Amino acid sequence: MTERSSTSHNHQWYADGLRFTCTQCGNCCTGPAGYVWITDDDIAQMAKHFKLGQRTFVDRYARKLRGRWSLVEHKTEHGYDCIFLDRKSEPGKALCSIYGARPAQCRTWPFWPENLTTPQAWEDVKRQTPCPGMDSGQRVPVTQIRIMRDTTPE
Ligand code: SF4
Repeated sequence: MTERSSTSHNHQWYADGLRFTCTQCGNCCTGPAGYVWITDDDIAQMAKHFKLGQRTFVDRYARKLRGRWSLVEHKTEHGYDCIFLDRKSEPGKALCSIYGARPAQCRTWPFWPENLTTPQAWEDVKRQTPCPGMDSGQRVPVTQIRIMRDTTPE
């Protein structure tokens, strides 16, 4: 996955909402080696999901980089997959095996502040990931977009 960065944003251009429906292709959960940053709240939520202590959870599934925790990735024919990406349960799909307990970074995708700065930034990330769910399916109202944008971890 690609490392995220914070930028200022102009949200006027998406005042009418944006369409997004995940197709479960898994493209945002793989790619070049990178980081899936997780917060303390994410760790608590995922540890609870597995009925593990938080220390045990990070020992098994996370690595510490520059003072922050990131989920472990593993190399596959597709790239560096998130440790929780499940390519086996449904043929042709790449599912998050902890969907209900997934980290905030994943829950707020693709409505990250840097993706919303301009229409061009949105187009760029849609092409680069690539994410077929962007500009497709359900229209997400601006009120929800703003909540996700503003709760995306740094
Ligand atoms: S790249 Fe987009 S469509 Fe594919 S799994 Fe990620 S969010 Fe869903």
